[in-house]
Amino acid sequence: MPDQTTTLLILGASGDLTRRLLLPGLGTLLREEPERSVRVMGADRVELSQEDWQAKVRDSLAEAEVPQEVADGIVQVSTYHRTDLLDRDQLKALLGETGDPLAVYFALPPAVTVKVCGLLEELRVPHGTRLALEKPFGDSLESARELNQQLLRVVPEDSIFRIDHFLGLSTILNLIGLRFANRLLQPIWSAEHIEKVEISYGETLALEGRAGYYDHAGALMDMIQSHLLQILAFFAMEAPASMRPPEIRGLKAQALRAVQPWGHDPAGASRRARYTAGQVGDRTVPDYVTEEGVDPDRGTETLAQLTVQLDNARWAGVPFVLRSGKALGAASKRVVVTFKEPAHTPTGLSPAPGPDRLVLELKPGSVALELSMNAEGDPFDLEQKELTAELGKSRMLPYGEILGAILDGNPLLTIRGDEAEELWRIVEPVYDAWEAGDVPLEEYAAGSDGPDGW
Ligand code: NDP
Repeated sequence: MPDQTTTLLILGASGDLTRRLLLPGLGTLLREEPERSVRVMGADRVELSQEDWQAKVRDSLAEAEVPQEVADGIVQVSTYHRTDLLDRDQLKALLGETGDPLAVYFALPPAVTVKVCGLLEELRVPHGTRLALEKPFGDSLESARELNQQLLRVVPEDSIFRIDHFLGLSTILNLIGLRFANRLLQPIWSAEHIEKVEISYGETLALEGRAGYYDHAGALMDMIQSHLLQILAFFAMEAPASMRPPEIRGLKAQALRAVQPWGHDPAGASRRARYTAGQVGDRTVPDYVTEEGVDPDRGTETLAQLTVQLDNARWAGVPFVLRSGKALGAASKRVVVTFKEPAHTPTGLSPAPGPDRLVLELKPGSVALELSMNAEGDPFDLEQKELTAELGKSRMLPYGEILGAILDGNPLLTIRGDEAEELWRIVEPVYDAWEAGDVPLEEYAAGSDGPDGW
């Protein structure tokens, strides 16, 4: 951990991301690592007094139970700068106020981020500056490439932190320990023993007033193109020699380069659906198309499924089913690994009641192994039993882990430029098939299990 003071400049300091995720994450970081020296600068076009900004920072630190003297020190040096970030002179003046080393967090709408990057290219930032960006990284392969090139004209690749907060989830990071520190699992982690892998993120939440963002994104971009393909990369990558960021990021990119829609058929490999009115628990959810801010003609999906294959020796023939949906009757956030049937079962032993499965629950974190074992009574009668381990509670919120890594200049938990481009390369043919009308937009009632057979 560096002992100099790092300036964390948050652009978009009055926005939703800063309020709901960044400041609370910072609180948990400083609670766990109170010796960190950080100066938090907020900038936004919204009018906000210095006192109001400091109160926001103080409240987040108090909420996270940061020791009082640590919180006082952080709040005292924390400043707010009302700035139109698209105004070159105002941005220049803001940069003049920052310290060194500097980490700039773009908590801005994506289109504004791109424009501010363009201005930074002209204005230049201090040597060693890190840039942290939120998804989406572009809205197509071409725009992702352009954004990458633009960013590289501002800072080098290892100073660009493309954020996917799923990578700060301890349950995702646990995949590394699980896979590479267990002799038992290492030899069976391949097509020879694994029948299929399902990575699901089904939630009970509906639109919750986020039409402005979600109606343009949809389930495929919001979850599959980003978070779920990142989980797949951790799941499927080859064994790293070390935990050094270039090693891990290189292996993830290599895994993603092998990904293709199942059967190289983006239409057959995908499904999309949209919820209609229904009851989720005790909440009445209106039809998606009647929600405020939704444009029905856009045909945005609230549920998507994409089955992919990895064209490499380790995973040839194994379907990876990625699925995500909103307004479902029950949440289901997990990775399920289904193993192949044994090559032979002795005559006289009852058949296994089901395949062996390893289930990784993402929230809250747990690992369960489902195996066939003797039932009570007849010793050769088998039943499925589950061995479960709860994962330890996270030290801090995912955004705490991520901010800590940015302040340390460690890009391990972030997405490299070529990875970001691969994510678009994988889903673009799916969008093309949807646009061509090759995949019907199905419907499901809010509160149901999703469309038939999902
Ligand atoms: P917001 O729409 O809340 O915008 C962030 C802030 O930027 C607002 O205060 C906005 O002001 C300000 N802003 C916009 N234009 C300018 C400008 N020219 N100069 C100065 N300030 C400006 O966005 P979010 O906080 O929701 O999201 C930020 C990023 O984080 C996005 O990329 C999003 O995809 C990503 N993200 C967001 C999550 C969330 O839960 N919110 C979750 C994960 C990622 P004003 O209100 O006046 O427009």
